[in-house]
This record gives sequence, C-alpha cells and structure tokens, in this order.
Amino acid sequence: MNIILLGAPGAGKGTQATKIAEGYQLPHISTGDIFREHMKNQTPIGVLAKSYIDKGQLVPDEVTCEIVEERIHREDCKNGYMLDGFPRTIPQAEALNKMSKVDLVINIEVDFNLLMERLCGRRVCKDCRESYHISRLNGETKCARCGGELYQRKDDNPETVKSRLAVYQVETAPLIEYYEKRGLLFNVVGNTTPEDVYAEVSKKLDTMK
Ligand code: AMP
Repeated sequence: MNIILLGAPGAGKGTQATKIAEGYQLPHISTGDIFREHMKNQTPIGVLAKSYIDKGQLVPDEVTCEIVEERIHREDCKNGYMLDGFPRTIPQAEALNKMSKVDLVINIEVDFNLLMERLCGRRVCKDCRESYHISRLNGETKCARCGGELYQRKDDNPETVKSRLAVYQVETAPLIEYYEKRGLLFNVVGNTTPEDVYAEVSKKLDTMK
C-alpha cells in the first residue's frame, strides 16, 4: 500500500505517520526529517534546504523529488510506503505519478486557528520524533516514549509558522482537489485526539488490506 499523508503543518501528519508505520509495517518517509538529517550533517543538500526551511519556504521541487525518488525505490518500500509531507505542490504530485502508483491520500483537516497554537507550542523528541505540546508537558524535558531529549524545531516560531501556513494555502491545499478528482482522497477530522484520528484512519486502511 502506497499512502500519502496530506494536511497543513501542525495537522498531526507526523503523529499519525508514526502510528500507521507501526500498525501496518510501512516505512515512514518524511521529507522534513530527511532535510533535517541533511542539515544536521551539513551536506550540500542540507545547506541548501536550510536556506528555505528557516524562512518557512518550500525546498525546490527538483531537489525534493530526487530525494523521494531515490528513497521510495529502496528495498524496504517494495511492499509499500507512507509519505509524510510529500507531495506539497502539484508539480511534486505529477512527478510522483511518474515514479509510483498511489493507493490512498489521507487528508487530515484541522481548524486553521488551532494550527498556530499547536506548532508554536510543539516539542519534538530528537530520537524517535514523537511530538508533544508544551501545555501538557508539565515541565518534562524527556520523551515519555523513549527517554530522548525534547526540543523545539527552529521553524516552529510564530514568524516562520505564519509563512509556512501561507505557503500551505497557496502551494499544498490545491492537492486536496487534485487527489479528490482522482478518487484517492480520504478526509479525516484532525481536531480531536491522535487516538481518535488513528481509529478513523485504521478503519479505512483495514478495508484496503
Ligand atoms: P515538515 O517537517 O514536514 O514540517 O517540513 C519542514 C520543512 O521542510 C518545510 O517547511 C519545507 O521547508 C521543507 N519540506 C519538507 N517537505 C517538503 C516538500 N515536499 N517540498 C518542499 N519542501 C519541503
């Protein structure tokens, strides 16, 4: 099963992707995580990506598509994959069509005014990528899942979040209609808890097995 997770920044794609990856044994491919790994290692891709990510802009399609094409053709994707944060533009979706078949696009819908609060208060585990909200951490600085250190992503600040959300509206939201027209879209309300969202998603995935 080849799955795409669609949704605005802060909609909960990463959280659902972790759950789906565990529940359905699919590799979780997050282009954001791939870029952050390159940035940490200061590779040429990392240096390039940083100049866009720090401003809340998208990394150019050509670079992003190349990374995804190489990744989804690895051995661990032969029975399927789950893409988190790709495609984010129509040209990326067109490029993906040429690389691979898509079985389902899960679109997580969250009220726009919730996203800013979610993102600016987000803390992420540097080891397992689990995310938390500061309002529920009670000062805890370690991950409840693996004990890793929690940190705030550099692009989770109000200024950068504003531009990420604006970019989402212009560049990424049109993908909803794009995939709806192709009969691949599954909408799920993301304002509820991660467990409720996952219950809806897994009901759908179970019908596709
Ligand atoms: P994410 O972790 O998905 O929120 O991604 C963090 C940042 O990485 C985004 O704000 C973009 O700058 C960049 N990025 C991730 N995925 C893509 C993509 N598919 N196309 C372009 N840029 C991306």
